[in-house]
Amino acid sequence: MIEFTSIHQMLESAREEGLPLWEAILQADCQSQGISREESLSKMAGMLRAMKEADGNYRAQDRSQSGLVGGDGGKMADYARQDNTLCGPFLSEVMAGALRMGECNACMKRIVAAPTAGACGVLPAVLLPYARHFGAEDNKLIEALYVASGFGMVIAARASISGAEGGCQAEIGSAAAMAAPALVHLQGGSPEQMANACAMAVKNLLGLVCDPVGGLVEVPCVKRNVIGAMDALSAAQMALAGIESRVPPDQVLDAMAEVGRSLPHTLRETGKGGLAATPFGQQYMHREE
Ligand code: SF4
Repeated sequence: MIEFTSIHQMLESAREEGLPLWEAILQADCQSQGISREESLSKMAGMLRAMKEADGNYRAQDRSQSGLVGGDGGKMADYARQDNTLCGPFLSEVMAGALRMGECNACMKRIVAAPTAGACGVLPAVLLPYARHFGAEDNKLIEALYVASGFGMVIAARASISGAEGGCQAEIGSAAAMAAPALVHLQGGSPEQMANACAMAVKNLLGLVCDPVGGLVEVPCVKRNVIGAMDALSAAQMALAGIESRVPPDQVLDAMAEVGRSLPHTLRETGKGGLAATPFGQQYMHREE
């Protein structure tokens, strides 16, 4: 477990050591887990490999056991191949990747739960198309994963990465807040820009409730991975443009924790509020009984 409990502390530690942020996070990982640099790097390379394999294992004809989810990743990939798509080739590919991974999870396939199974689509959806479009090698993606894990650990320590605890802001929001600084790293941005990207990604999804239909990690979870990926990209782009979060990043995480505590239990993964409580959601529950 990486031991940073604030973004400020994480950035200061890297600055004091004169290390790039990803390297400081790697070294903290080695120290806290008592493993060598090679072991840590090999573990992170394994995560990247597993993300790629999960993406490659997607089949558009697969359906989740409930039948509510499946095929949308294929539809988006088909649309992405057309000329004049609304969002262009890169963003369309990102959206297709998020849907694919979310559907793989709903279909019980092996995924990388980073930070959680429900939000597993966000990181690969931005990293894998980024590598294809911008020509990033695996070693750069592994560095980006360290950046993502460092911010993820601070979020877990300071707020939450659990929908049952903090609502969907803690799952999809956290995934976006990990992916955004990872993208800033890939684009050569500064640690401060990474911190701002993380903060803006959280702020943009603050208060997002956890309301899965039937209590299953399917609806709206799969499609929320798309908005998490798009949130990460827009927050990263704002940070790279020099735009800053007015509220300091650690205070944003504290607000997220407070909002999570304020959410009623019906909106924290109980499947009793929000979309789960709609006539459709109730009908579905009834059908299952
Ligand atoms: S709605 Fe709940 S179960 Fe679904 S992804 Fe969000 S936090 Fe996870």
